[in-house]
Amino acid sequence: MGNLEGKAALVTGGSRGIGRAICLELARQGARVVVNYHSNAEAAAEVVARIKEAGGEAVAIGGDVANADAAAALVKGAVEALGGLDILVNNAGITRDRLLMRMSESDWDDVHNTNLKGTFLVTKAAMRPLLRSSAGRIIVITSVIGVMGNAGQANYAAAKAGLIGFTRAVAREVASRAITVNAVAPGFIETDIIAPMSEEAIKGAMAQIPMERMAKPEEVAPLVAFLAGDGGGYITGQCIHVDGGMVMA
Ligand code: NAP
Repeated sequence: MGNLEGKAALVTGGSRGIGRAICLELARQGARVVVNYHSNAEAAAEVVARIKEAGGEAVAIGGDVANADAAAALVKGAVEALGGLDILVNNAGITRDRLLMRMSESDWDDVHNTNLKGTFLVTKAAMRPLLRSSAGRIIVITSVIGVMGNAGQANYAAAKAGLIGFTRAVAREVASRAITVNAVAPGFIETDIIAPMSEEAIKGAMAQIPMERMAKPEEVAPLVAFLAGDGGGYITGQCIHVDGGMVMA
């Protein structure tokens, strides 16, 4: 029997990259999974098909986490599809990298709306169903950039740092109800999100990784699954890095 047998999980931005790997790992460990996506229905359908082929249970639900109505509809749809909710993974995220001098208001707003406000909206909508679970789990995907900063990412660093504060505040609110809330901070992971980076920016990032390599999304997912399971029952309010040693504190 898997670590997450029978658990109901919602993963935002589950269609690609790290979210995709999280959906596959949660399902591999026995969870029933809602794979959320924004615009890429085909990619989400592929994740659902992979899970079903392996004997698991999954359904794709589209919806923009930055939109309050869509976020509420997403959670409602997930609860209807799964009969409840035990695990919420706030993973959906975007970048709009530019030096501050050239950063537009929409670069700032887009990143904050998806990464930070989206997590607020989905988590708020999910709170009631999670309170009905005997062991609710909220996992927030932040970033090393929210801790160490990065030139060209003031919008993203601020949103990701905000998520760490959000995680700690909500962890304190719901700890007495047996819900844990933790952040996972990946370092430099090979996904579509790094495609817009210049060769120079990639070199600069690589120079900061003691393990001297990027990671695959599959190297982030097991920690999320651990936090989602019984082993994570007494861990809350933490920000745990999966970054090859980029941040050591
Ligand atoms: P990715 O490959 O670009 O995938 C992003 C995912 O988010 C996609 O599934 C996308 O859906 C979804 N998404 C984007 N905007 C959305 C919205 N408004 N509503 C719902 N879903 C939305 O990115 P990734 O690298 O896997 O990143 C996943 C998370 O990890 C992000 O929060 C990112 O900040 C964080 N992270 C990544 C790295 C890294 O190096 N890759 C490092 C640290 C942290 P569609 O497929 O429909 O577009």
